[in-house]
Amino acid sequence: MSVHHLKTREELVRSDREKLWHPFADLARWEREDPPLIVSGEGVWLTDMNGHRMLDGTASLWVNLLGHRRAELDRALGHQAGLIAHSTFLGATHEGAVLLGERLLALAPPGLTRVFYSDNGSTAVEIAMKLAFLTQKNRAKKEGRTPPSRFFSLERGYHGDTLGAVGAGAIERFHAVFGPLVRPSVTAPAPDCARCPLGLVHPGCQLSCAEVAAGEIRAHRDELVAVMVEPLLQAAGGMIVWPRGFLARIAEAARGEGLLVIADEVATGFGRTGTLFACEQEGVIPDLLVVGKALTGGYLPLAATLATERIYEAVREDPGTFYHGHSYTANPLACRVALATLDVLEREDLLASLPSKRAKIEEEWAPLSRHPHVGNVRTLGLVAAFDLLPPPRTPSGPGEAALLQEWTRKIGETARERGLLIRPLGPTLYLIPPLSSTVEEVGLMARLLRESVESVLPPLPAS
Ligand code: PMP
Repeated sequence: MSVHHLKTREELVRSDREKLWHPFADLARWEREDPPLIVSGEGVWLTDMNGHRMLDGTASLWVNLLGHRRAELDRALGHQAGLIAHSTFLGATHEGAVLLGERLLALAPPGLTRVFYSDNGSTAVEIAMKLAFLTQKNRAKKEGRTPPSRFFSLERGYHGDTLGAVGAGAIERFHAVFGPLVRPSVTAPAPDCARCPLGLVHPGCQLSCAEVAAGEIRAHRDELVAVMVEPLLQAAGGMIVWPRGFLARIAEAARGEGLLVIADEVATGFGRTGTLFACEQEGVIPDLLVVGKALTGGYLPLAATLATERIYEAVREDPGTFYHGHSYTANPLACRVALATLDVLEREDLLASLPSKRAKIEEEWAPLSRHPHVGNVRTLGLVAAFDLLPPPRTPSGPGEAALLQEWTRKIGETARERGLLIRPLGPTLYLIPPLSSTVEEVGLMARLLRESVESVLPPLPAS
Protein backbone atom coordinates (compact mmCIF):
# COMPACT_ATOMS: atom_id res chain seq x y z
CA MET A 1 0.00 0.00 0.00
CA SER A 2 1.48 3.38 -0.91
CA VAL A 3 1.44 5.93 1.89
CA HIS A 4 1.48 9.68 1.50
CA HIS A 5 3.51 11.29 4.26
CA LEU A 6 2.91 14.86 5.38
CA LYS A 7 6.52 15.37 6.43
CA THR A 8 9.89 13.97 5.36
CA ARG A 9 11.62 11.39 7.54
CA GLU A 10 14.20 13.97 8.63
CA GLU A 11 11.49 16.42 9.68
CA LEU A 12 9.65 13.76 11.67
CA VAL A 13 12.77 12.54 13.46
CA ARG A 14 13.81 16.10 14.29
CA SER A 15 10.37 16.92 15.64
CA ASP A 16 10.29 13.64 17.60
CA ARG A 17 13.62 14.60 19.22
CA GLU A 18 12.42 18.09 20.05
CA LYS A 19 8.89 17.34 21.23
CA LEU A 20 8.43 13.72 22.33
CA TRP A 21 9.61 11.81 25.34
CA HIS A 22 10.23 8.11 24.80
CA PRO A 23 9.86 5.42 27.48
CA PHE A 24 12.93 3.72 28.92
CA ALA A 25 15.21 6.03 26.92
CA ASP A 26 18.54 7.39 28.12
CA LEU A 27 17.61 10.94 27.11
CA ALA A 28 21.05 12.30 26.24
CA ARG A 29 21.73 9.23 24.12
CA TRP A 30 18.29 9.19 22.52
CA GLU A 31 18.80 12.77 21.31
CA ARG A 32 21.71 11.52 19.18
CA GLU A 33 19.98 8.38 17.90
CA ASP A 34 18.60 7.80 14.46
CA PRO A 35 15.60 5.61 15.26
CA PRO A 36 13.78 3.46 12.73
CA LEU A 37 10.59 5.24 11.71
CA ILE A 38 8.18 2.35 11.24
CA VAL A 39 5.56 2.76 8.55
CA SER A 40 4.02 -0.66 8.11
CA GLY A 41 4.23 -4.33 8.99
CA GLU A 42 3.35 -7.63 7.35
CA GLY A 43 3.73 -10.96 9.12
CA VAL A 44 7.00 -10.88 11.08
CA TRP A 45 8.39 -8.00 9.00
CA LEU A 46 8.44 -4.29 9.79
CA THR A 47 9.13 -1.66 7.12
CA ASP A 48 10.58 1.75 7.93
CA MET A 49 10.15 5.02 6.08
CA ASN A 50 13.27 4.36 3.98
CA GLY A 51 11.68 1.13 2.76
CA HIS A 52 14.14 -0.94 4.84
CA ARG A 53 12.61 -4.23 6.03
CA MET A 54 13.40 -5.69 9.45
CA LEU A 55 12.29 -8.83 11.25
CA ASP A 56 10.41 -8.04 14.46
CA GLY A 57 12.78 -9.88 16.82
CA THR A 58 10.94 -8.84 19.99
CA ALA A 59 7.38 -9.37 18.73
CA SER A 60 7.09 -5.61 19.32
CA LEU A 61 8.03 -6.31 22.94
CA TRP A 62 5.98 -9.46 23.62
CA VAL A 63 2.70 -8.24 22.21
CA ASN A 64 2.71 -9.40 18.61
CA LEU A 65 1.64 -13.02 18.84
CA LEU A 66 0.45 -13.67 15.30
CA GLY A 67 2.41 -11.32 13.06
CA HIS A 68 1.39 -7.91 11.79
CA ARG A 69 -1.70 -7.25 9.66
CA ARG A 70 -3.49 -10.51 10.46
CA ALA A 71 -6.57 -10.65 8.26
CA GLU A 72 -8.69 -12.23 11.04
CA LEU A 73 -7.74 -9.49 13.51
CA ASP A 74 -8.23 -6.73 10.95
CA ARG A 75 -11.69 -8.12 10.23
CA ALA A 76 -12.66 -8.35 13.92
CA LEU A 77 -11.52 -4.76 14.43
CA GLY A 78 -13.35 -3.49 11.35
CA HIS A 79 -16.53 -5.33 12.30
CA GLN A 80 -16.61 -3.88 15.81
CA ALA A 81 -15.63 -0.40 14.57
CA GLY A 82 -18.67 -0.60 12.29
CA LEU A 83 -20.85 -1.05 15.39
CA ILE A 84 -19.26 1.06 18.11
CA ALA A 85 -15.68 1.77 19.18
CA HIS A 86 -16.25 2.35 22.87
CA SER A 87 -19.03 2.74 25.41
CA THR A 88 -18.54 2.86 29.15
CA PHE A 89 -18.35 -0.37 31.15
CA LEU A 90 -19.48 1.46 34.29
CA GLY A 91 -23.12 0.44 34.61
CA ALA A 92 -23.33 -1.15 31.14
CA THR A 93 -21.93 -4.21 29.40
CA HIS A 94 -21.41 -5.62 25.88
CA GLU A 95 -21.09 -8.90 24.08
CA GLY A 96 -17.35 -8.79 23.37
CA ALA A 97 -16.50 -8.36 27.06
CA VAL A 98 -18.77 -11.23 28.09
CA LEU A 99 -17.55 -13.63 25.41
CA LEU A 100 -13.91 -12.81 26.12
CA GLY A 101 -14.44 -13.24 29.86
CA GLU A 102 -15.97 -16.68 29.31
CA ARG A 103 -13.12 -17.61 27.00
CA LEU A 104 -10.36 -16.48 29.34
CA LEU A 105 -11.85 -18.38 32.27
CA ALA A 106 -12.20 -21.52 30.16
CA LEU A 107 -8.51 -21.32 29.17
CA ALA A 108 -7.06 -20.30 32.54
CA PRO A 109 -6.12 -22.73 35.32
CA PRO A 110 -9.22 -24.05 37.12
CA GLY A 111 -10.61 -22.12 40.06
CA LEU A 112 -10.39 -18.68 38.46
CA THR A 113 -13.96 -17.51 38.02
CA ARG A 114 -13.96 -13.71 37.61
CA VAL A 115 -12.40 -11.33 35.09
CA PHE A 116 -11.62 -7.66 35.76
CA TYR A 117 -10.50 -5.73 32.67
CA SER A 118 -8.00 -2.90 32.38
CA ASP A 119 -5.76 -1.45 29.67
CA ASN A 120 -2.18 -2.50 30.42
CA GLY A 121 -0.12 -4.92 32.44
CA SER A 122 0.83 -2.45 35.16
CA THR A 123 -2.76 -1.54 36.00
CA ALA A 124 -3.79 -5.20 35.88
CA VAL A 125 -1.03 -5.88 38.43
CA GLU A 126 -2.26 -3.01 40.63
CA ILE A 127 -5.77 -4.47 40.48
CA ALA A 128 -4.42 -7.85 41.60
CA MET A 129 -2.59 -6.14 44.48
CA LYS A 130 -5.68 -4.22 45.58
CA LEU A 131 -7.94 -7.28 45.34
CA ALA A 132 -5.47 -9.38 47.30
CA PHE A 133 -5.21 -6.67 49.94
CA LEU A 134 -9.00 -6.35 50.29
CA THR A 135 -9.35 -10.13 50.60
CA GLN A 136 -6.73 -10.35 53.33
CA LYS A 137 -8.15 -7.28 55.07
CA ASN A 138 -11.56 -8.92 55.17
CA ARG A 139 -10.03 -12.07 56.64
CA ALA A 140 -7.93 -10.20 59.21
CA LYS A 141 -10.99 -8.26 60.35
CA LYS A 142 -12.86 -11.49 61.02
CA GLU A 143 -9.91 -12.88 62.93
CA GLY A 144 -9.37 -9.65 64.87
CA ARG A 145 -5.89 -9.12 63.42
CA THR A 146 -4.18 -6.07 61.93
CA PRO A 147 -4.46 -6.52 58.14
CA PRO A 148 -1.21 -7.27 56.32
CA SER A 149 -0.09 -4.72 53.73
CA ARG A 150 3.11 -5.90 52.09
CA PHE A 151 3.84 -8.17 49.16
CA PHE A 152 6.57 -10.70 48.60
CA SER A 153 8.35 -10.66 45.23
CA LEU A 154 11.72 -11.70 43.91
CA GLU A 155 14.85 -9.65 43.45
CA ARG A 156 15.08 -8.51 39.81
CA GLY A 157 11.31 -8.91 39.58
CA TYR A 158 9.37 -6.56 37.32
CA HIS A 159 5.64 -5.99 37.46
CA GLY A 160 5.12 -2.66 35.69
CA ASP A 161 5.76 1.05 36.06
CA THR A 162 2.83 2.48 38.01
CA LEU A 163 3.74 3.15 41.63
CA GLY A 164 2.10 0.09 43.20
CA ALA A 165 3.75 -2.12 40.60
CA VAL A 166 7.07 -0.32 41.15
CA GLY A 167 6.81 -1.23 44.86
CA ALA A 168 6.44 -4.88 43.88
CA GLY A 169 9.39 -4.64 41.49
CA ALA A 170 12.99 -5.10 42.53
CA ILE A 171 15.34 -4.19 39.69
CA GLU A 172 17.92 -1.80 41.07
CA ARG A 173 18.25 0.20 37.82
CA PHE A 174 14.49 0.70 37.30
CA HIS A 175 13.08 0.84 40.79
CA ALA A 176 15.61 2.17 43.29
CA VAL A 177 15.12 5.80 42.21
CA PHE A 178 11.43 5.69 43.17
CA GLY A 179 12.12 4.03 46.53
CA PRO A 180 10.85 6.95 48.64
CA LEU A 181 7.48 6.87 46.86
CA VAL A 182 6.57 3.22 47.29
CA ARG A 183 6.04 0.48 49.81
CA PRO A 184 8.79 -1.98 48.93
CA SER A 185 8.17 -5.70 48.81
CA VAL A 186 9.79 -8.28 51.01
CA THR A 187 12.22 -9.97 48.63
CA ALA A 188 14.49 -12.97 48.25
CA PRO A 189 17.16 -13.64 45.61
CA ALA A 190 15.99 -14.65 42.14
CA PRO A 191 16.79 -18.23 41.15
CA ASP A 192 19.41 -17.34 38.56
CA CYS A 193 21.46 -20.52 38.08
CA ALA A 194 23.98 -18.82 35.77
CA ARG A 195 24.97 -16.45 38.58
CA CYS A 196 23.66 -18.27 41.63
CA PRO A 197 23.21 -15.70 44.39
CA LEU A 198 24.04 -18.44 46.90
CA GLY A 199 27.16 -19.52 45.00
CA LEU A 200 25.75 -23.02 44.43
CA VAL A 201 25.44 -25.21 41.34
CA HIS A 202 22.18 -26.67 40.03
CA PRO A 203 20.97 -29.42 40.46
CA GLY A 204 23.34 -30.28 43.31
CA CYS A 205 22.02 -27.21 45.15
CA GLN A 206 18.69 -29.00 45.64
CA LEU A 207 16.94 -25.68 45.08
CA SER A 208 18.35 -24.02 48.17
CA CYS A 209 17.18 -20.69 46.71
CA ALA A 210 13.58 -21.88 47.04
CA GLU A 211 14.23 -22.65 50.71
CA VAL A 212 15.70 -19.16 51.22
CA ALA A 213 12.60 -17.62 49.59
CA ALA A 214 10.28 -19.86 51.63
CA GLY A 215 12.19 -18.80 54.76
CA GLU A 216 11.60 -15.09 53.97
CA ILE A 217 7.92 -15.77 53.35
CA ARG A 218 7.67 -17.56 56.70
CA ALA A 219 9.60 -14.87 58.55
CA HIS A 220 7.28 -12.10 57.25
CA ARG A 221 4.03 -14.08 57.21
CA ASP A 222 2.11 -11.64 59.43
CA GLU A 223 2.96 -8.64 57.25
CA LEU A 224 2.34 -10.29 53.89
CA VAL A 225 -0.74 -10.15 51.67
CA ALA A 226 0.48 -12.27 48.78
CA VAL A 227 3.41 -13.71 46.92
CA MET A 228 3.76 -12.18 43.46
CA VAL A 229 5.76 -13.98 40.78
CA GLU A 230 6.60 -13.90 37.08
CA PRO A 231 6.29 -17.68 36.68
CA LEU A 232 9.25 -19.51 35.12
CA LEU A 233 10.74 -16.42 33.48
CA GLN A 234 11.77 -13.08 34.96
CA ALA A 235 11.70 -11.09 31.76
CA ALA A 236 12.82 -7.49 32.36
CA GLY A 237 15.10 -8.67 35.18
CA GLY A 238 17.37 -10.28 32.58
CA MET A 239 15.44 -13.18 30.99
CA ILE A 240 16.08 -15.36 34.02
CA VAL A 241 14.73 -18.85 33.36
CA TRP A 242 13.86 -20.58 36.64
CA PRO A 243 15.04 -24.05 37.54
CA ARG A 244 12.19 -26.56 37.58
CA GLY A 245 10.46 -26.85 40.93
CA PHE A 246 11.15 -23.32 42.18
CA LEU A 247 7.70 -21.99 41.27
CA ALA A 248 5.83 -24.89 42.88
CA ARG A 249 7.95 -24.64 46.03
CA ILE A 250 7.32 -20.95 46.67
CA ALA A 251 3.62 -21.27 45.81
CA GLU A 252 3.47 -24.05 48.41
CA ALA A 253 5.29 -21.85 50.94
CA ALA A 254 2.77 -19.05 50.32
CA ARG A 255 -0.18 -21.36 50.77
CA GLY A 256 1.36 -22.82 53.92
CA GLU A 257 1.32 -19.34 55.48
CA GLY A 258 -2.21 -18.49 54.30
CA LEU A 259 -0.98 -16.03 51.65
CA LEU A 260 -2.44 -15.50 48.21
CA VAL A 261 -0.48 -16.31 45.05
CA ILE A 262 -0.45 -13.72 42.25
CA ALA A 263 0.89 -14.98 38.92
CA ASP A 264 1.98 -12.07 36.77
CA GLU A 265 1.76 -13.64 33.31
CA VAL A 266 1.74 -10.34 31.46
CA ALA A 267 4.85 -11.44 29.54
CA THR A 268 4.58 -15.23 29.81
CA GLY A 269 0.85 -15.61 29.04
CA PHE A 270 -0.68 -16.93 25.82
CA GLY A 271 1.89 -19.54 24.94
CA ARG A 272 5.20 -17.73 25.18
CA THR A 273 6.79 -20.32 27.51
CA GLY A 274 5.39 -23.33 25.62
CA THR A 275 2.10 -23.72 27.50
CA LEU A 276 -0.81 -21.31 27.42
CA PHE A 277 0.15 -20.08 30.90
CA ALA A 278 3.54 -20.72 32.50
CA CYS A 279 1.94 -21.70 35.84
CA GLU A 280 0.56 -24.84 34.21
CA GLN A 281 4.04 -26.31 33.85
CA GLU A 282 4.32 -26.77 37.61
CA GLY A 283 0.64 -27.33 38.35
CA VAL A 284 0.39 -24.03 40.22
CA ILE A 285 -3.11 -22.58 40.41
CA PRO A 286 -2.86 -18.92 41.37
CA ASP A 287 -5.52 -16.93 43.25
CA LEU A 288 -4.97 -14.06 40.84
CA LEU A 289 -3.70 -14.34 37.29
CA VAL A 290 -2.60 -11.18 35.48
CA VAL A 291 -2.55 -11.08 31.67
CA GLY A 292 -1.96 -8.36 29.07
CA LYS A 293 0.53 -7.77 26.26
CA ALA A 294 -0.23 -10.57 23.71
CA LEU A 295 -3.93 -10.75 24.64
CA THR A 296 -4.90 -8.69 21.57
CA GLY A 297 -2.15 -10.04 19.34
CA GLY A 298 -0.39 -6.69 19.60
CA TYR A 299 -3.30 -4.68 18.19
CA LEU A 300 -4.80 -2.76 21.10
CA PRO A 301 -4.12 -2.11 24.80
CA LEU A 302 -6.08 -4.57 26.92
CA ALA A 303 -5.27 -6.46 30.11
CA ALA A 304 -7.18 -8.56 32.60
CA THR A 305 -6.92 -9.71 36.19
CA LEU A 306 -8.52 -13.09 36.77
CA ALA A 307 -9.63 -13.91 40.33
CA THR A 308 -11.11 -16.79 42.29
CA GLU A 309 -14.64 -16.72 43.67
CA ARG A 310 -13.18 -16.50 47.18
CA ILE A 311 -11.63 -13.14 46.28
CA TYR A 312 -14.83 -11.92 44.63
CA GLU A 313 -16.87 -12.97 47.67
CA ALA A 314 -14.50 -11.27 50.11
CA VAL A 315 -14.73 -7.95 48.25
CA ARG A 316 -18.48 -8.36 47.78
CA GLU A 317 -18.87 -8.79 51.53
CA ASP A 318 -16.65 -5.90 52.53
CA PRO A 319 -16.22 -3.20 51.22
CA GLY A 320 -18.95 -4.24 48.76
CA THR A 321 -17.65 -1.96 45.98
CA PHE A 322 -14.26 -2.23 44.37
CA TYR A 323 -13.31 1.41 43.90
CA HIS A 324 -11.24 0.99 40.79
CA GLY A 325 -11.91 1.44 37.06
CA HIS A 326 -10.58 3.04 33.90
CA SER A 327 -12.19 5.14 31.18
CA TYR A 328 -11.41 2.46 28.60
CA THR A 329 -12.18 -0.58 30.77
CA ALA A 330 -13.22 -3.51 28.52
CA ASN A 331 -12.86 -1.51 25.31
CA PRO A 332 -15.09 -3.29 22.75
CA LEU A 333 -12.59 -3.05 19.87
CA ALA A 334 -9.90 -4.63 22.04
CA CYS A 335 -12.22 -7.38 23.34
CA ARG A 336 -13.21 -8.41 19.79
CA VAL A 337 -9.60 -8.43 18.61
CA ALA A 338 -8.63 -10.50 21.68
CA LEU A 339 -11.31 -13.07 20.81
CA ALA A 340 -10.00 -13.27 17.25
CA THR A 341 -6.43 -13.63 18.59
CA LEU A 342 -7.41 -16.58 20.78
CA ASP A 343 -9.27 -18.13 17.82
CA VAL A 344 -6.16 -18.03 15.63
CA LEU A 345 -3.86 -19.25 18.43
CA GLU A 346 -6.05 -22.32 18.86
CA ARG A 347 -6.97 -22.94 15.22
CA GLU A 348 -3.36 -22.86 14.07
CA ASP A 349 -2.27 -24.96 17.07
CA LEU A 350 0.69 -22.64 17.53
CA LEU A 351 1.77 -24.20 20.83
CA ALA A 352 2.47 -27.50 19.08
CA SER A 353 4.75 -25.74 16.60
CA LEU A 354 7.01 -24.11 19.20
CA PRO A 355 9.48 -26.96 19.92
CA SER A 356 10.67 -27.06 16.29
CA LYS A 357 11.09 -23.28 16.24
CA ARG A 358 12.98 -23.31 19.50
CA ALA A 359 15.21 -26.15 18.20
CA LYS A 360 16.01 -24.07 15.12
CA ILE A 361 17.22 -21.19 17.29
CA GLU A 362 19.33 -23.58 19.38
CA GLU A 363 20.87 -24.98 16.19
CA GLU A 364 21.70 -21.51 14.84
CA TRP A 365 23.17 -20.44 18.18
CA ALA A 366 25.26 -23.57 18.82
CA PRO A 367 28.49 -21.75 17.77
CA LEU A 368 27.69 -18.94 20.21
CA SER A 369 27.94 -21.30 23.18
CA ARG A 370 31.65 -21.68 22.36
CA HIS A 371 32.25 -17.96 22.04
CA PRO A 372 34.42 -16.65 24.91
CA HIS A 373 32.31 -13.50 25.25
CA VAL A 374 28.93 -15.23 25.24
CA GLY A 375 27.46 -17.08 28.19
CA ASN A 376 24.27 -18.67 29.49
CA VAL A 377 22.57 -19.40 26.17
CA ARG A 378 19.04 -20.35 27.20
CA THR A 379 15.65 -21.05 25.70
CA LEU A 380 12.15 -21.58 27.01
CA GLY A 381 9.08 -21.93 24.81
CA LEU A 382 9.72 -19.30 22.16
CA VAL A 383 12.06 -17.12 24.22
CA ALA A 384 15.79 -17.33 23.56
CA ALA A 385 18.54 -15.31 25.22
CA PHE A 386 22.25 -15.12 25.96
CA ASP A 387 24.51 -12.79 27.88
CA LEU A 388 27.61 -10.95 26.70
CA LEU A 389 30.67 -11.51 28.88
CA PRO A 390 33.52 -9.00 29.08
CA PRO A 391 37.15 -10.11 28.65
CA PRO A 392 38.58 -11.27 32.01
CA ARG A 393 40.92 -8.27 32.31
CA THR A 394 38.16 -5.67 32.01
CA PRO A 395 37.80 -3.75 35.29
CA SER A 396 34.47 -4.58 36.92
CA GLY A 397 32.06 -1.73 37.64
CA PRO A 398 31.67 1.22 35.23
CA GLY A 399 34.46 0.00 32.91
CA GLU A 400 32.75 -3.33 32.36
CA ALA A 401 29.30 -1.80 32.04
CA ALA A 402 30.52 0.74 29.45
CA LEU A 403 32.17 -1.98 27.36
CA LEU A 404 29.07 -4.18 27.42
CA GLN A 405 26.87 -1.24 26.57
CA GLU A 406 29.08 -0.35 23.62
CA TRP A 407 28.95 -3.95 22.38
CA THR A 408 25.17 -4.23 22.68
CA ARG A 409 24.72 -0.86 20.96
CA LYS A 410 26.89 -1.94 18.03
CA ILE A 411 25.23 -5.36 17.82
CA GLY A 412 21.79 -3.73 17.81
CA GLU A 413 22.85 -1.35 15.01
CA THR A 414 24.45 -4.10 12.96
CA ALA A 415 21.42 -6.36 13.34
CA ARG A 416 19.16 -3.54 12.24
CA GLU A 417 21.25 -2.84 9.13
CA ARG A 418 21.11 -6.54 8.30
CA GLY A 419 17.34 -6.71 8.77
CA LEU A 420 16.57 -7.61 12.40
CA LEU A 421 15.14 -5.29 15.04
CA ILE A 422 16.09 -6.22 18.62
CA ARG A 423 16.13 -4.51 22.01
CA PRO A 424 19.10 -5.43 24.22
CA LEU A 425 18.43 -5.64 27.96
CA GLY A 426 21.69 -4.64 29.68
CA PRO A 427 24.21 -7.30 28.62
CA THR A 428 21.42 -9.70 27.60
CA LEU A 429 20.48 -10.20 23.97
CA TYR A 430 17.29 -12.06 23.19
CA LEU A 431 14.72 -13.07 20.63
CA ILE A 432 11.00 -13.34 21.31
CA PRO A 433 9.60 -13.87 17.81
CA PRO A 434 5.87 -13.80 17.12
CA LEU A 435 4.60 -17.33 17.86
CA SER A 436 3.29 -17.54 14.30
CA SER A 437 6.78 -17.06 12.76
CA THR A 438 7.77 -19.95 10.53
CA VAL A 439 10.77 -22.14 11.36
CA GLU A 440 12.62 -20.39 8.51
CA GLU A 441 11.80 -16.92 9.84
CA VAL A 442 12.86 -17.85 13.36
CA GLY A 443 16.05 -19.39 11.94
CA LEU A 444 16.78 -16.21 9.98
CA MET A 445 16.31 -14.06 13.10
CA ALA A 446 18.68 -16.32 15.07
CA ARG A 447 21.27 -16.33 12.27
CA LEU A 448 21.19 -12.54 11.82
CA LEU A 449 21.66 -12.02 15.55
CA ARG A 450 24.51 -14.54 15.74
CA GLU A 451 26.28 -13.00 12.73
CA SER A 452 25.84 -9.50 14.18
CA VAL A 453 27.40 -10.68 17.45
CA GLU A 454 30.26 -12.38 15.63
CA SER A 455 30.97 -9.28 13.57
CA VAL A 456 31.08 -6.94 16.58
CA LEU A 457 32.76 -9.01 19.31
CA PRO A 458 36.49 -9.75 19.26
CA PRO A 459 36.95 -12.86 17.08
CA LEU A 460 37.01 -16.42 18.33
CA PRO A 461 40.51 -17.75 18.95
CA ALA A 462 41.54 -20.15 16.13
CA SER A 463 40.76 -23.73 17.21
N1 PMP B 1 4.43 -7.49 34.35
C1 PMP B 1 5.36 -8.05 33.57
C2 PMP B 1 5.89 -9.40 33.93
C3 PMP B 1 5.83 -7.39 32.44
O1 PMP B 1 6.80 -7.94 31.67
C4 PMP B 1 5.28 -6.12 32.13
C5 PMP B 1 5.69 -5.34 30.89
N2 PMP B 1 6.94 -5.42 30.46
C6 PMP B 1 4.30 -5.59 32.97
C7 PMP B 1 3.89 -6.30 34.07
C8 PMP B 1 3.71 -4.23 32.71
O2 PMP B 1 2.92 -4.26 31.57
P1 PMP B 1 2.62 -2.91 30.76
O3 PMP B 1 3.90 -2.50 30.12
O4 PMP B 1 1.58 -3.31 29.78
O5 PMP B 1 2.12 -1.91 31.76
